[in-house]
Amino acid sequence: MKDIKMFINGEFKESTKHFVSTNSANGEKVATVHLPTEKDIDAAVDAAEAAFYSAEWRGMDQNKRADILEAISVKLKERKDELTTLEVADSGSTLRKAKADVANAASYFKVLAGQLRKFQFEVKDEAASRAGFSNNFRLYEPVGVCAQIIPWNFPLVMAAWKIGPVIASGCTTVLKSAQETPVTAGILAEILNEVGLPKGVVNIITGGANEGAYLLKNPKVKKVAFTGSTAVGKKIMESAGKNLQKLSLELGGKSANIVLDDADLSLAVDGALYAFLYHSGQACDSGTRLFVENSIYPTFKEALVKRIAEVKVGLPTEISTGFGPVINKKQFDTIMNYIQTTKNEGAKLLFGGERVVGGDFDKGYYIAPTLFEVTPDNTIFNEEIFGPVLAITPVANEAEAIALANKSDYGLAGAVWSKNAERAKNVAKQLETGTVWINEYHLLNPGMPFGGYKQSGLGREMGEEGLKSYLEVKHLWISDCDERAKKPWFDAIF
Ligand code: NAD
Repeated sequence: MKDIKMFINGEFKESTKHFVSTNSANGEKVATVHLPTEKDIDAAVDAAEAAFYSAEWRGMDQNKRADILEAISVKLKERKDELTTLEVADSGSTLRKAKADVANAASYFKVLAGQLRKFQFEVKDEAASRAGFSNNFRLYEPVGVCAQIIPWNFPLVMAAWKIGPVIASGCTTVLKSAQETPVTAGILAEILNEVGLPKGVVNIITGGANEGAYLLKNPKVKKVAFTGSTAVGKKIMESAGKNLQKLSLELGGKSANIVLDDADLSLAVDGALYAFLYHSGQACDSGTRLFVENSIYPTFKEALVKRIAEVKVGLPTEISTGFGPVINKKQFDTIMNYIQTTKNEGAKLLFGGERVVGGDFDKGYYIAPTLFEVTPDNTIFNEEIFGPVLAITPVANEAEAIALANKSDYGLAGAVWSKNAERAKNVAKQLETGTVWINEYHLLNPGMPFGGYKQSGLGREMGEEGLKSYLEVKHLWISDCDERAKKPWFDAIF
């Protein structure tokens, strides 16, 4: 069993409080985890602040920081088997999903390193500058000490997306992992020491709402980066308002998947299933609302129901498994309540809608992939479930699909399926959402921004936008005129 200590100022520290992290597939113990006290959290913030003002970190050139990011990427690849095994045990991810997560985290650090080497922290604006008058520069400078909070669904990837831009920008941080899945962030901490990241630049603790809320309140924290539910995101925004901390929020979603009548049907069927079943529906960008044009609806529905029966539900540790358990009893109960509500509301159940039982399944929280035919009045049309439940609605045409897709408080992602690229693009442009795929789903590009419209978030991660969200911009004005006589505006006070 692993022992996950707090990582504060480059050292692994024991706490007076502990808990045991368990495997969601079978309830077995995965790790003893050290839970920080308020004193520990303050110490982590102090370490981050000391590191931020240290000559070593302040003076570190961007290429050296990029070297560190690349070295992290290499180490993640070296330890990929260990990380994969731990991620499967700690988060209930299937083996295939966990392998992809480790590879994605490693690739993210590498891409970010390349981005950082090219990033210009000092840019002269030629259009704004005028000879004999002024030279005007933008200077990009790190915001300062960050507090970062992540959810349990993609533990290593979420930690990478948070720690990466901190190192790239020259900020420092205290990252709080989710209490449900603290293990791989602990391994990442070991890697940070191995690659020589200066002490205190990244501090990692775990905990729940109390530890998170306490961390954010510290006035030394200048930026808060949160990924999690919209409900908690609203509380975080209130808390950040008290000290006017810079804020980025990556929140929930109810993303729309639109199948036009000229789509490649078998591709769209597989795409629609992949969109909502990946990680048992516990992905923020899941395509959980499906709109299909009436003219192809009967054929599409029949193909979808046939194909969903072929998804391999199984133990996360088996490589053939495509679909595993949900994270814990709380999440299981939430999802089953939504299923019951939808049944009570009279929506038509097309597939699933029950717990998967028998043998090893009884040890974990498995819910059958579930399809409901719904109208916009159904609860699950509007609310994020965070489980393997798809709400399908036939539509008259693409205009109705767009209107219904936008009829949501969320706006994180979505997709359009069509063989006509121009037509699909026209639909994509009308969707109020941060990412739209055409004939694709879930794939992200570390060089491109990811984030939400409306109540799905604030700001972006990844891409240049993600890096800039950890930077303040300073306007540096260098006068190109040193003669008092040529500065008549001074006369305003003489
Ligand atoms: P959650 O909001 O319950 O918790 C997220 C994190 O916040 C956890 O670390 C938790 O301990 C902490 N937390 C909870 N209450 C807090 C408080 N009052 N103050 C400070 N911290 C607090 O979310 P979850 O159940 O862990 O994750 C699922 C949610 O995350 C879904 O809504 C999903 O859509 C969202 N999510 C979004 C993205 C994205 O990039 N947009 C990515 C993954 C998950």
